[in-house]
Amino acid sequence: MILPPATLGMLGGGQLGRYFVMSAHRLGYQVIVLDPDPASIAGAAADGQIVAAYDDAEALAELARRCDAITCEFENVPAASLALLEQHKPVRPAASAVRVCQDRREEKAFLTRAGVPVAPNLTLLPHEPLPALSSDLFPAILKTAREGYDGKGQWTIHQASELPAALAASGVPCVLEKRLPLEGEFALTLARSPSGAISALPLVQNWHSGGILDQTRSPANVPALEAEAQRIAKHIIAALDYVGVLTVEFFLVGGKLLVNEMAPRPHNSGHPSIDNAGCSQFELQVRALCDLPLPAQADVQPAILLNLLGDLWQDGTPDWAGALALPGVHLHLYGKGEARPGRKMGHVTVTGRDWPTVEATAHQLRALLG
Ligand code: ADP
Ligand code: MG
Repeated sequence: MILPPATLGMLGGGQLGRYFVMSAHRLGYQVIVLDPDPASIAGAAADGQIVAAYDDAEALAELARRCDAITCEFENVPAASLALLEQHKPVRPAASAVRVCQDRREEKAFLTRAGVPVAPNLTLLPHEPLPALSSDLFPAILKTAREGYDGKGQWTIHQASELPAALAASGVPCVLEKRLPLEGEFALTLARSPSGAISALPLVQNWHSGGILDQTRSPANVPALEAEAQRIAKHIIAALDYVGVLTVEFFLVGGKLLVNEMAPRPHNSGHPSIDNAGCSQFELQVRALCDLPLPAQADVQPAILLNLLGDLWQDGTPDWAGALALPGVHLHLYGKGEARPGRKMGHVTVTGRDWPTVEATAHQLRALLG
């Protein structure tokens, strides 16, 4: 066990890292953030920041020297950097697990090998002749194999003849995936400690707009799906020998769950846990990293999360005073400088004693914020 006041290392300086810092601080830990941006919002909240690229060997050595254990806030940290850090200090999740989650080709291959259902897909490389493609695959989505997020690096493809131009435009290896008629999207966030304990947050339901998460309901309140999601997620954790927080995104198609993708970290759709659960996804991240006991899943309050994208600022500062006057409104602003369209600036979680109350408040909030 790594006990407070140990120092924890965080690769990544965005909002997920910032919440990790806050949870770690509450438990009496110190945190050093590594991020190339000197104005990173996690760095601003931390006890120190190393300003360097994620593959800067000297900076990684310094992080390993100053910290007792290290984690990351996103999957695009080079796996080789995590492998380097692993030679000196505990790194959770492991480089081997992050490597799988950071490349859609590896991720799909792993899930398929593990017997987990995924959308029909195949890998395509730019500048290589197209294989024969079944018309069943279309309409499809072309996704860059690496570095995509919030729907970035994705193109809708109606027929095979559109592929050469799209692939040339991407210029990188891609996964072509059948566009499925989704009956719903769900996510499960869970943590496993080095001792093998597992703690899961409730299954949540997600609604996206333009590839970006718009709204989450926690809990999703579908016991049969929750049991199936837990079974699949625990199978993934076992197959990856995973330690840390993992989020599995699911599609519901024909009444069955398929796995869309995995995130080796807390997730936007897990944010309700900050306000509606006894132990948030970020405290789970700290606990799993430090091998502290993981709490049993307790009942959570009904909650609706609404993301606040930069678009909301186009007519000036939104009416925070009005929003905060509503009961059960938990406003989270991440402290980011510039409100660009599509940029996640914050979120609001509405909690209440029952769903009608939460829904009514969320409705008022939407009317207020536009
Ligand atoms: P990101 O890494 O940007 O989250 P995802 O693969 O999760 O990428 O895609 C973002 C969103 O796009 C999904 O949450 C879903 O709404 C939609 N989407 C992605 N793949 C498919 C698919 N095969 N069929 C239907 N919708 C999809
Ligand atoms: Mg996704």
